[in-house]
Order: sequence, then C-alpha cells, then structure tokens
Amino acid sequence: MSVKVRKGEYVLVEVDEKMKLGRVQSFDDTTVSLMLQKDFPYVKDAAEYDRSQVRVNFGADPLPGRAYGYDLGVLHRGTIEHDFWGSIHFMYRPDKKTTRLLKNSLDRTAKRVEKLELTEFVERFTTEIRPKQGKWAGMYLHSKNDLVPHRVWYAPEWSQRDPDTMDNVIFHEFGHVVRHNGVIDLRYRGRWVSLWQKSIANVKIESRQLKEIRSLIESADPEEARFAQMLKEATADLGPRVHKAIVDWFNQAHNIKMRDLELLWKSGKSDQLMSLWPDHLIDTHDLKPVVSEYATKNSEELFAESFAFYCQKKKLPSKVQSLLDDSLRLARETILEPDEHDHEE
Ligand SMILES: [Zn+2]
Repeated sequence: MSVKVRKGEYVLVEVDEKMKLGRVQSFDDTTVSLMLQKDFPYVKDAAEYDRSQVRVNFGADPLPGRAYGYDLGVLHRGTIEHDFWGSIHFMYRPDKKTTRLLKNSLDRTAKRVEKLELTEFVERFTTEIRPKQGKWAGMYLHSKNDLVPHRVWYAPEWSQRDPDTMDNVIFHEFGHVVRHNGVIDLRYRGRWVSLWQKSIANVKIESRQLKEIRSLIESADPEEARFAQMLKEATADLGPRVHKAIVDWFNQAHNIKMRDLELLWKSGKSDQLMSLWPDHLIDTHDLKPVVSEYATKNSEELFAESFAFYCQKKKLPSKVQSLLDDSLRLARETILEPDEHDHEE
C-alpha cells in the first residue's frame, strides 16, 4: 500500500536507505515526481520515484520540526526581487507587520550601503528570510560549493518589531559579506585580530576579587572537585563574563587552555597553577561602546558589529573607526570576483 499524495505536498522518499525531502510536482498510480528540497531554490533537482518509496507525507504546510535531518520549519515559500538587494527568498511566511518592517528596513539599509559605495558587494550573495529559531538573528554563509551562492539570512522576528534592531541585523550580516569578499589582505585581518584581543577582557575584575576567587579555589580538594567546577562556583556571584574573562586570560597570557589547567590541578600542581593566577585583569574602556556581546566573540564579529555601528551612525572609538575606514577603502579596491572563493575558513 502506498502513501497518498497530492500536488504541492512535502514528502519523504527512501532512496538507498536514506530519506530525501521533496515537494510533489505530479504523480500517477505508480510514480511520483518530486522537486527535491536540498539546497532549494538554488539547486532545482527534480526526480521521479516509485510510489512505494514514499514513506511520510507532511502535507502542503508542514508543522515546524525536524525529520531525518530536514528542517520542516525552513522551506522555500516564495521569492521577491528587491530593487537594490536582489532576490530575497522567504523560507517561511512572516506576518504582515513583520513583512512591512523588513521591507522598510531593506529600503533604508539599501540607501546607506549605496552611499558608502559598497553596492558591488550586493552581487556577491543572496538573501534568505528565515523563522526565528534559537539565538541567531542572522548569519552569513560563505559557500564552498559553486552551485549554491554565498548567502545571508535574517530572522526578522528577532528584532521584535524594532526598526533599529532590524537595520542592525542587516548591516551586521552585510559587514560579514564585505569582510569575506573585500577585506582579504591578511595584514588587515591581523589588525582586526589584535584590536579584538585588546577588547576581550572587557570585564573589570579587581585585585581584591581575584584574591577572593583564588582563595575559594584553593580551599577545595583537587581529589574531590574539578578545577572548572571550582572556578565556576567561585565566580558564580560575579557572573559568566567574569568566568570567561579568567579562562580567556589564562589562554592569552599563558597560552594555557582549560584542559591544561585541569591537568595541573588534578596532578597536585595547584601551587604551580596558582602562581600563574592573575593579580590584575585589565578593562579596555577604549573599545566601548563597540564591545557588545557580538563584538567579543571573535575578530570577525568585531568587524561586523563595528561596521553595523558605523552604518547606523553610532559613534565608534577612534581606533576602531580608523581601522574600519582603512578596511572599507581596501574592500572597495579589492572586491573578490564572484567565482573567486576565499578558502581561509
Ligand atoms: Zn556575525
């Protein structure tokens, strides 16, 4: 007995013990023709299967969820052409208010990008609109595959209908496009890395607090508690940023990772470990206000977030602004051709 199908429904077919998701194009008593959804709408792969291969029918409007590695909440629902940004693929159906917010934001950001003379970069990627899932507001996906273009996606719901936030997301992701396709020179990337390294310890921990944390850790028995656990407990009152700052500090100042700290601790070398303990962590005020959660993640995020701040005419620290100016000048001169791929990551 075969699963019932109708045109426009999403079904899974079993092929060599693997499941493929497709949208029914046509069918008869024995066969079904599907538009396969992997990499759709970029790769339009139609294929015919035996009706007996159909395993599940999700209907024309599947409920969000995952099945055999497919995300049923992210399916191509339609494409619009924006005057400036080009093809925009909707991977779900946002409500009317959200759609309007997004369109206004696309128009506003377009004007700004044009003014910054970065229009050429718009041809280097295509845009997807996705439902809000998890913590991401958007993402830039640098393609390594010639069939699929570089992509940017946004989840407009993430902005909670705040136009400024929506603009920020669009500029931020466009910042990734500019960096990946224009700021290729390793010397420039190095300058961003070093700027970022200075911005990591954006948490101020007083000597007194460091001493307290240290004595809490020292009071523990390495046989009974892991170092990571003790550090977490000892910094619990001060928050995860303090915890992270200390871990980062060991990594940067001594090139010691948590795993190595754990080994020292476990092998009874806690004295040696404590001799490395910081007595003063530096707060880099000079990087505020760029230092947002994003900017502290890595140098690439610092670039993207600084770019977004600049596009939104928010004031940047002078060091950041001048490096950004240099980088954008470079980007305008050295934009990668569409078929040149940057294989760095
Ligand atoms: Zn980012």
